[in-house]
Amino acid sequence: MKLSDLGEFGLIARFASRFLERLPAGTTGIGDDCAVLPWTKDRRLLVTTDMLVEDVHFLRAAIPARDLGYKSLGVNLSDIAAMGGRPLSAFLSLGIPGGIDVGWLDAFFRGIRDLAAAESVSLLGGDTTKSPGPLVINIAVLGAARPGKIKFRSGARPGDGIFVTGSLGDSAAGLRIVLEKRPRGRDEAALVRRHNRPRPHLPEGAWLAGRKAVTAMMDVSDGIDSDLRRILERSVCGAAVNLDALPLSALLRRAARKYGWDERELAVTGGEDYCLLAAVRRDAAAETAAAFERAFGRPLVRIGTIMAAGDGLRYFAGGRPAALRRRGFDHFRPKG
Ligand code: ADP
Ligand code: MG
Repeated sequence: MKLSDLGEFGLIARFASRFLERLPAGTTGIGDDCAVLPWTKDRRLLVTTDMLVEDVHFLRAAIPARDLGYKSLGVNLSDIAAMGGRPLSAFLSLGIPGGIDVGWLDAFFRGIRDLAAAESVSLLGGDTTKSPGPLVINIAVLGAARPGKIKFRSGARPGDGIFVTGSLGDSAAGLRIVLEKRPRGRDEAALVRRHNRPRPHLPEGAWLAGRKAVTAMMDVSDGIDSDLRRILERSVCGAAVNLDALPLSALLRRAARKYGWDERELAVTGGEDYCLLAAVRRDAAAETAAAFERAFGRPLVRIGTIMAAGDGLRYFAGGRPAALRRRGFDHFRPKG
């Protein structure tokens, strides 16, 4: 069997099934944004780790070292946000190719420090090796959460509203500007910055975690087409997504018009937005969105509804079924 037939998520399911021993009470293993372990009576320990590989996740020549440091920590903090937790400490492992400038590494560490200081995260360890190939960056983050308030991917139920905490597609547009070497006007620079320095939605995650009506949550890393499928698998549900309701920034709309891009496709399949995707019980959906807007001064945007499992993930536009040309990101599947 080829890896491309299995896909990234098929591969994870394949080896996860071989480690299905009974976990101790209060422990959650493979399958969510963080693992959860028992800690104290009123605190659980969250653990998450993410790897960034040169030429897969970033092009070293195309991202400032300081931004890459910021992003490497940011994508991990985003997984803590997705559980409704608070980040505490980080461990950084690097595989460094020969010939990297020390000044480059200094700037990279400064980027990590920028975000670590802002979120009161301490760097407590890691590992450093030489890499014969690409630069490899792995960060693991520990966090804390209240036991009853942790949000999993598995709690969504038919009828729940589907919401996102920020605009979708900006990061994908930024990446496209980099790859297509578009001249950097003010809009282009802002979109590239959204791609290079994603803000983990920690305050939003903590706020949503405090609401009983929020039934499931995760962060948007691969695009909602892929990420929502993860919630649907874990919750054994389907979903209807209204493409007319996607929150698209003015920046994205202008760039899409200028370059002839399909803004909805970028928003649904592009990924790396690192905002949060949440399901909210039907009876509390409108009130939760209104309270979020009062708290943050921006909307919690409803993009669809959780449906019964047999429905799968369906898209609608103008009230009619709509098809997507591409799917969300998977490391091992061919594009298309
Ligand atoms: P995220 O995008 O939130 O970081 P992923 O989609 O990368 O999550 O991973 C999904 C789940 O699979 C997570 O629980 C993650 O810990 C687990 N996972 C991914 N790769 C591995 C691996 N090599 N070994 C064990 N668990 C893994
Ligand atoms: Mg995640």
